[in-house]
Amino acid sequence: MDLYEYQARDMFEKHGVPVLRGIVADTPAEAKAAAEKIGGVTVVKAQVKTGGRGKAGGVKVAKTADDAFAAAEAILGLDIKGHVVKRVMVAEGARIAQEYYFSVLLDRANRSYLSLCSYEGGMEIEQLAVERPEALAKVEVNPSTGIDLAKAKEIAIEAKFPAELVDKVAEVFVTLYKVYVDEDATLVEVNPLVLTEDGDILALDGKVSLDENAGFRHADHEALEDKAAADPLEAKAKLHDLNYVKLDGEVGIIGNGAGLVMSTLDVVAYAGENHGGVRPANFLDIGGGASAEVMAAGLDVILGDPQVKSVFVNVFGGITACDAVANGIVAALDILGDAATKPLVVRLDGNSVEEGRQILAARNHPLVTLATTMDDGADRAAALAAK
Ligand code: GDP
Ligand code: MN
Repeated sequence: MDLYEYQARDMFEKHGVPVLRGIVADTPAEAKAAAEKIGGVTVVKAQVKTGGRGKAGGVKVAKTADDAFAAAEAILGLDIKGHVVKRVMVAEGARIAQEYYFSVLLDRANRSYLSLCSYEGGMEIEQLAVERPEALAKVEVNPSTGIDLAKAKEIAIEAKFPAELVDKVAEVFVTLYKVYVDEDATLVEVNPLVLTEDGDILALDGKVSLDENAGFRHADHEALEDKAAADPLEAKAKLHDLNYVKLDGEVGIIGNGAGLVMSTLDVVAYAGENHGGVRPANFLDIGGGASAEVMAAGLDVILGDPQVKSVFVNVFGGITACDAVANGIVAALDILGDAATKPLVVRLDGNSVEEGRQILAARNHPLVTLATTMDDGADRAAALAAK
């Protein structure tokens, strides 16, 4: 889960990272009130989960509270890379002497943590990495030892900070690493980290991604979720603890086990090429112990997607045998009743496959077709979606 800048700012403040005051506002009037509260020069910043707000006109310096009103009026409703601005943050203005870059992130490929840091900030980091790679330090961080003061100094020196600044920024790096570990983040990025004219180091913009797998350790993280922006189908799936990801095709997919579902997506996409290019509509793993209720909830989510034209249920019976899955499908169709409106292709294999097929054949539901193999099922489901 990615946080908004204002949420990252609050989190930084909680952990002692130096930040400036910031107050969110949903209207120009609220922005004006916030600017009055903060006093002096403020900066009005679009709260959208994308970078490059500065260049897109989403960051404006306001000398007075009336300027903040006008800035908010200009920024609210702005479309920044497909994200419409619904909220701004009015932040205390900083007098910037220099801009730097710092981040720490999960490096999956190397099964480690990685810190990126540059003395040359104020530029998009992707651009810096391409144009001046020598200016971007990449320092591996051992997750067992993390970023202590010595490691932080190593990062600062590698990033070419002058000697008189090393201790000062290193201290902030250590605190930012605390945010990263204590909050179970997969990314903490500060761009820009600035040196002010008064000689202070401040995190002026923050980007934080939290590891949702660690959500159970952080009761306060749930409140950070932007429920209004979430896909309604994904929200519904989450409510039922289903592993669902919406895609943009026409063939709904249900399977058990992430590996089987992933290969089902591939096989359906491949079969779809012979049927006008139909594609999978979603990823949905109902897991090992798929009860009738779970099957019903899964079908309900998929059938709620208006783009879905057919559904492919691909299950390999294991501990939960095929007869139980078949009973689950039958019960799910009964639970859904008239809400079940789209054709279902079912492929069962594995434990108690014959019993499972018999149950479905006996029920003889008008929407259900039985497939013998995965390829056959994918082809039938794609053909039905293409109709
Ligand atoms: P981004 O473009 O989405 O990354 O947004 P940032 O928060 O990084 O802001 C973009 C730029 O606006 C920064 O690199 C700064 O140059 C400038 N900026 C942000 N806050 C202030 C401030 O308080 N004072 C001044 N003078 N400039 C600021
Ligand atoms: Mn930035």
